[in-house]
Amino acid sequence: MAKYTDADCRLCRREGCKLFLKGDRCISSKCAMEKRPVAPGQHGAGRKKVSDYGTQLREKQKVKRAYGVLEKQFRKYYEEAERMKGVTGTNMLSLLERRLDNVVYRMGIGDSRSESRQIVNHGHISVNGKRVNIPSYLVKVGDVIAVRENKKDLEMFKQLKGVKIAMPKWLEFNSDELVGKINALPQREDIDLNIQEHLIVELYSR
Ligand code: SF4
Repeated sequence: MAKYTDADCRLCRREGCKLFLKGDRCISSKCAMEKRPVAPGQHGAGRKKVSDYGTQLREKQKVKRAYGVLEKQFRKYYEEAERMKGVTGTNMLSLLERRLDNVVYRMGIGDSRSESRQIVNHGHISVNGKRVNIPSYLVKVGDVIAVRENKKDLEMFKQLKGVKIAMPKWLEFNSDELVGKINALPQREDIDLNIQEHLIVELYSR
């Protein structure tokens, strides 16, 4: 599991944008990017000239941190995206979106991707009726994602009942039944993070 010892909010401040790593706090006035939107450290507020390489590197770090994956795994997504038909950068983002921990987050079952990863790790989620505890599991069109029957009475899941949240059109989720479905593969317009994926492709193509 990807793990950073640095405070999550410092990662957002380093990347200069909200990565939505801390659930509700990210949409509140307590968000560090609202209060102090500069890079952490003594010279964080100073202006720095950034090279092309630096810009590309920062973009990659931003995406890795948002999805909570480490370098080796991220590189594998890139290589798989390169082998697929279509635009490499878009393919890479689509693969990241299809991770089960991300889907659990997008459906609103977990507050953040890291909480969703824990929910999957702890065996609370099933895919097509079978327990899946692998956060990197890639969902497919038609997959049924659910909170497992014997876990539905846990307080964290009871709180979800009847709550409607906005989610991308490639997903649906019934918050009364705690069951969702993958209706389509995610398209570029479904990914709301401010990402310039072509910079990552340029970085890896060097
Ligand atoms: Fe912290 Fe969330 Fe704001 Fe990022 S978006 S700075 S993780 S509160």
